Amino acid sequence: MADKSVQELAKLVNKSVQALREQLVEAGMPDRVATDPVTEDEQERLVAFLKKSHGQTDKKRISLKRKTVTTLKGTGTSGQSRSINVEVRKKKTFEKPDAESIARDAQEREAQRLADLEAAKIKQAEEEKARSESDARQKATLDAMRANFSKSKKTTAESVQVVSKKSAQPVVVKKAKPKVESRVSKESDADRKAREAEEARLKELEEKARRQAAEEAQKRTLEEMRQMASKYAGKDAPAVVTKKDDPLAEGLVGDALEESFERERREIKRGSSSTAARGRRRRSSQTEQEIRARSKGLKTSQAGQHGFAKPVERQVYDVQISEEVVVSDLAQRMAVKAREVVKMLMKMGEMVKEEETIDQATAALIVEEMGHNPVLVSDTDAEDRLRDLAGDARTNVETRAPVVTIMGHVDHGKTSLLDKIRSSKVASGEAGGITQHIGAYHVETDRGMITFLDTPGHAAFTAMRSRGAKATDIVVIVVAADDGVMPQTAEAIDHARAAGTPIIVAINKMDKESADPDKVLNELSVKEIVPEKWGGDTPIAEVSAATGDGIDELLEMIGLQAEIMELTAATDGLAQGVVIESRQEKSRGVIASLLVQKGMLKKGDLVLAGEFYGKVRAMTDEDGKPIKQAGPSIPVEILGLPDAPAAGAEFLVVADEKKAREVAEFRRDRERQSKLDRKSKSRLENLFENLGKAEVQQVNLILKTDVRGSLEALSSALEELNTDEVAVNIISSGVGAISESDVVLAESSEAVLLGFNVRADTTARRKMDADDIDVRYYSVIYDLIDDVKAAMSGKLAPEHREQILGVAGVREVFRSSKFGAAAGCIVDSGTIYRKKPIRVLRDDKVVFSGELESLRRFKDDVNEVKSGLECGLAVKGYRDIQEGDKIEVYEVHEVERTL
Ligand code: GDP
Repeated sequence: MADKSVQELAKLVNKSVQALREQLVEAGMPDRVATDPVTEDEQERLVAFLKKSHGQTDKKRISLKRKTVTTLKGTGTSGQSRSINVEVRKKKTFEKPDAESIARDAQEREAQRLADLEAAKIKQAEEEKARSESDARQKATLDAMRANFSKSKKTTAESVQVVSKKSAQPVVVKKAKPKVESRVSKESDADRKAREAEEARLKELEEKARRQAAEEAQKRTLEEMRQMASKYAGKDAPAVVTKKDDPLAEGLVGDALEESFERERREIKRGSSSTAARGRRRRSSQTEQEIRARSKGLKTSQAGQHGFAKPVERQVYDVQISEEVVVSDLAQRMAVKAREVVKMLMKMGEMVKEEETIDQATAALIVEEMGHNPVLVSDTDAEDRLRDLAGDARTNVETRAPVVTIMGHVDHGKTSLLDKIRSSKVASGEAGGITQHIGAYHVETDRGMITFLDTPGHAAFTAMRSRGAKATDIVVIVVAADDGVMPQTAEAIDHARAAGTPIIVAINKMDKESADPDKVLNELSVKEIVPEKWGGDTPIAEVSAATGDGIDELLEMIGLQAEIMELTAATDGLAQGVVIESRQEKSRGVIASLLVQKGMLKKGDLVLAGEFYGKVRAMTDEDGKPIKQAGPSIPVEILGLPDAPAAGAEFLVVADEKKAREVAEFRRDRERQSKLDRKSKSRLENLFENLGKAEVQQVNLILKTDVRGSLEALSSALEELNTDEVAVNIISSGVGAISESDVVLAESSEAVLLGFNVRADTTARRKMDADDIDVRYYSVIYDLIDDVKAAMSGKLAPEHREQILGVAGVREVFRSSKFGAAAGCIVDSGTIYRKKPIRVLRDDKVVFSGELESLRRFKDDVNEVKSGLECGLAVKGYRDIQEGDKIEVYEVHEVERTL
C-alpha cells in the first residue's frame, strides 16, 4: 500500500474527494486538499477507523471447539464390570484473511495462471513441431512405398498434396491464441470466470479440430495405400472407406483389442498351461501381430478386409491312449510340453520321467485333467484292423486238417513216433529226406490230412511248448510203456489243459517186454487223464514207434477227434497263421517255416511276420518242393523276410505295405520296450541281490543256434541254471553261423562260444585260431546244458574242507643240539605224516602252524607213524614245544561243488 493522493484514494475506494476528506478528519487526521498525499500509515489508520465505526473488530481468528464423550465397557482386574468415559475434544481454528492477504492471494493466483498459460503455449508449440515432424516421416514412408509400388505418378502427387494439407491444419489452432493472450493481460477478478470458460471452450474446439484433422489425414493415407495396394494386386479398391469398414480408422478398436489380449493373457496365466491355453496364446499373438502390422500400415494384400479374427474357442483333442504310453508321446498328443505332464503326474503322486511309460488308466486321468477326451485304444488296434480287413476278404470256409503236437517226456519216443508216421504215410518217392528241418509236416490218412508240429520235448522248453500248444488243435502225449508218467509228461498234460487242447495219449514202446500199459494208465488217472475204456474221455493208443504197431489206430483217433471238433477255415482270401521256425542261411537269407491257419498264402504275397515284413520270394512245402500257394493247416517254408521272426509269432498277409510297416514298427517298439524293461529290472534286481554278498560269479555265453526255436529253448533252459552264486549271462545270441564279430565279442567279454548245430564260418575260424579262442559245438541240447553246468561249477568257489589225519600227544621234550627241541610222543589217533602240515595245540588252542622237521620211530626216520605207536618228532622253526602239547596233522581238501 503505497502513498496516494486524496484524489487517487477516493477513486480507489469509489468515494468522492469530499467524503474522504471528512472521513480523514473524523479519524483524527488533519484535513487536506485533493492533491495532498495520504501516507501509508494514514491509510491504515483510516481503514481501522472505518472498520471500527462499522462495528467490526480486529479479531482475525475464530476457534471452534467440539467435544464427544464415548463410554467403554470392560472388566476390571477385580472381575467387576467397569465403564470408562472417553472424552475427545477437537478444536479447529479458522483464520480470517485480511484484505492484504486476499489481495496477495489474488496476485499469486494470477501469476500461476499466467505461468500455466505460458507452459501450455510452449507445450502446444512442441506438439506442433512433433506433428510436423511425424507428417514429414509419414510422407517419407509414403514416398518410399510409392517408389516401390507406384505405377501412377498421379497418385503420388495427390498423396503429397494430402500430406501438405494435413500439415496446414494446426494453423487454425494458432489463430485462436492471440485472443487468449490479449485477454490474459487484462487483470480483472470479475471477468476471470467468464474468461476461463471461454478458454475451456476454445481448448475444446482446438482439440476437436486437431482430432478431426488427424482422422482425416489417416483416412486419406489408408485410402491411398489401399488404392496402391489393390493396383499392385490388380484388384479394385473399395471406393469409400468408412470407419465401419476399417477398424483402424477408429483408434478405440486397437485399445479394445489390447484389452482383450490382456484378458487372454491373464486367463492363460491363471489357468493351466494346457493345450487350449497354448493354442489360444498362439492364436492371440498371431492376431496381435496382425493388428500391429496393420497399425503400421504394412498390411497390403488384404487391404480393405477385416484383419481381426476373434480368438477361437479352446481346442479339445481326442487323445488316443494305448495300453502303455510314453509320457512324452502323450504330451505331444495333447500339444503340451512333456514336463507339464510330468508335473501333473507328480501332483498325482507319480514320479515318472518324460521317457518312461505310464499305464492307460493313469494316462486317461491326465488327459481328462487337461481338458481333453481320452480315447482308449488297444495296443493291437492296428493289428486287429489288419486282421479284420483280411478276414472280411475270406468267404469260402471249408473243413481243414487238424494240427497235432506230440509232447512227452524225453526219450519216450516222440521223434521216433513222428518219423515213423511220416515215413509210413508219405509216399516213399516224395519223402526225400526227413532231414528237412521245417518243424512241421502233414500226412494223408484214411480219415484225411493231419498236420504234425515238431516241438522240442524238454522240460526247459516251456515257452515254446506252450506256443506250440496254441497253434495246435490236438495234443498227443507220448508215454513210454516201460517208463510211465514222468515229470515232463505231467508238464505236457498241464500245458495242453491250459491251452484247452484235447489230449490223446500214445503209450509207446509197446514192443518192449517191460511194457506195462496198465501202470501207465494208473499213473495217468492220477493226473486226471481217464481212458475211455475206464469211462473217461481220453482216447488211448498203444503204439510202437519201433515196429509201427498201433500207429494207424492213433491216426484214426486223431482223425475222429478232428471230426468231432469240426475244424473249419476259409480257404480263400489273405492268409494268416503262425511262424513255426525261422533261421538264417548265408546263401538263401532268412527262411521261415509258416503254418497257414486261414486263407490262402501265395507266392508274392506281402507277409507281416512278427516285427518283420517282406514279399514271399519263394515258397516250398515240407519236402522242399516249390509251391505256388498253401491253404489252411499246410506248413510251408518261405524266403523273403528281412530277419528271422520269433517262433510262435503270428504272420499275416497284408495288402497295404504302409500298414504292414506301421504294424511292424509298432511291434518292434513294443519288443524294444519290453526288452528295456526286462534289462532295467534285472539290473535292479542284481543291485539288490548283490548287496551284502561277497561276489556273484558270472558265466558269460555267446550262443548261436540253427533255428530260432532252439535258441529260445536253450536260452530259457540256461537261464534256469542261475544260482545265487553263479549267473548265466548270455551276452549275445542269434540264429546262424558263428561270425567273426561273435569271436571278437567272446574275446573281449571272456565269454564261452557255443554253437548248437552250427559251425564257425571261415573268417571266424581264422580269428579263433589266431587268438586261441575256444568254441564248443553241440548237437544235443542236454550236452550243451550239462557243459554249461560244469562251467558254472568251475566258477563256484571251491569248498575248503580240513581233515585231521592224526593227533600225537607230547610226553617228553628232549633238547637236542641238532634239532633244538625233540618231542617224544605217542600217536593218539589217526596217522602222523611227516610231509603234511601240522599245528601245535596247547590247551586246544593253536600255538603254531607249520611242518615237521623230522619224524622218527626209534632211530629211523619214517614217513608215517600209526595210532598207538611211539615216535619222536621235531617241528621246523619251533623250539618252544612243551610236554602236554598236541601235534595235529591235517590236510585241506578242495571240494568242487556241483550245482
Ligand atoms: P524223444 O526224446 O521223445 O524224441 O525220444 P526218441 O524218439 O529220441 O527216442 C528215444 C529212444 O527210444 C530212442 O533210442 C528210440 O530208438 C527209442 N524208442 C522210441 N520208440 C520206441 C519204441 O516204440 N520201441 C522201442 N523199443 N524203442 C523205442
